[in-house]
Amino acid sequence: MPWTSRVSDGRRCDICDAPVPSVHTDRRCPTRLLWTATKAGNVSQIQQHVSNGALINAVNRHGYTALHQAAFKGNHGAVITLIQLGARTDVQNRHGETPAITAHKAGYNALAVSLGYTSKKVSKSSKAVTGVCGR
Ligand SMILES: [Zn+2]
Repeated sequence: MPWTSRVSDGRRCDICDAPVPSVHTDRRCPTRLLWTATKAGNVSQIQQHVSNGALINAVNRHGYTALHQAAFKGNHGAVITLIQLGARTDVQNRHGETPAITAHKAGYNALAVSLGYTSKKVSKSSKAVTGVCGR
């Protein structure tokens, strides 16, 4: 009696853990392609790869999500696109940095603020704050 064959050969994508090649029919990982498009700031490709199944909140070996990469590059368009597609802004990389902190450290302060950067910790469910601090 032959041993039970698996659906795939048992290999899995080292990025998104999808069985290879059943999901990655062309052996290209949509998540990897998403990261490449993010680094290039290519918004239309970002949208395409997410619709192709890229895991938008997947992290690389440094704990960076695509949103971290867009923030690091200071690419506003990519950041907005990723968030609209469901990227989380509260994921911390290996250094404990959220995308907002990454943007701030890279010198993109306006982007950092739009990602929710504040110098103080705020509650996750903070309501929209209107007005400026006058104290
Ligand atoms: Zn993959």
